[in-house]
Amino acid sequence: LLTARGIRKSFGDNEVLRSIDLEVRRGEVVVLIGPSGSGKTTVLRSLNGLETPDRGTLSFAGGPDLDFSTRVSKQGRVAMRDRSAMVFQQHNLFPHMTVLENVIEGPVRVQRVPRARAVAEAEALLERVGLAEKRDEYPFSLSGGQQQRVGIVRALALKPDLLLFDEPTSALDPELVGEVLKVIKELADEGWTMVVVTHELGFARQVADEVLFMDGGVVVERGAPKDIFTKPAEERTRRFLDRIL
Ligand code: ATP
Repeated sequence: LLTARGIRKSFGDNEVLRSIDLEVRRGEVVVLIGPSGSGKTTVLRSLNGLETPDRGTLSFAGGPDLDFSTRVSKQGRVAMRDRSAMVFQQHNLFPHMTVLENVIEGPVRVQRVPRARAVAEAEALLERVGLAEKRDEYPFSLSGGQQQRVGIVRALALKPDLLLFDEPTSALDPELVGEVLKVIKELADEGWTMVVVTHELGFARQVADEVLFMDGGVVVERGAPKDIFTKPAEERTRRFLDRIL
């Protein structure tokens, strides 16, 4: 579905990504783990067009090849951006809009989906994550876990090819983490393609087809979860896992 090659990105003198290669097949779940500041979020933001890499190429199946060492056209960037939808650490819901309005905003305003259809689809999605009765509430009246589930529904409503999750549970109280991970796990089981940044290693192990361990802007090691978590080949991976587990 997606191929990224040699992605580089610096902020000033800070070289945050030093040549990242990534391949995501349709229906696959790729999990990025690694210490804070290793560049995981910047990888996701690059895939979603929120950051423009300095170098490297990105292509989605059936879309144009974007080569960031040359000037990438606006159409190219828009075409790429529309293939994925991101779920942020903080849900980023619009506080002045109801749950339903938040969910239909993208489809109606950006994708020009007729309002009645967007509403029907939003209701079905809210039902699926157990939030049908919250449709007319405002975000502040929901728990953090409910807000994050609305954040997930908002991403699903865009019908992206690829879902990107940036530490979707790290801002939640511990007792609310489970309900959000459960929804993500169900989506994975349904065959959604996703790239997930998470510190929840137990969860990573359950859902991942492939795990990438990043440190210092490079992918240090990648492989099946059972290999990375039980017999990592690299010393840096071992040290990271020892610290976290
Ligand atoms: P975390 O787990 O803390 O989110 P991360 O692995 O996701 O870490 P990134 O958020 O990608 O790491 O950040 C990598 C580095 O890039 C950090 O040193 C950060 O300060 C820097 N950085 C990220 N975004 C910007 C920006 N917009 N401007 C300047 N520096 C940035």
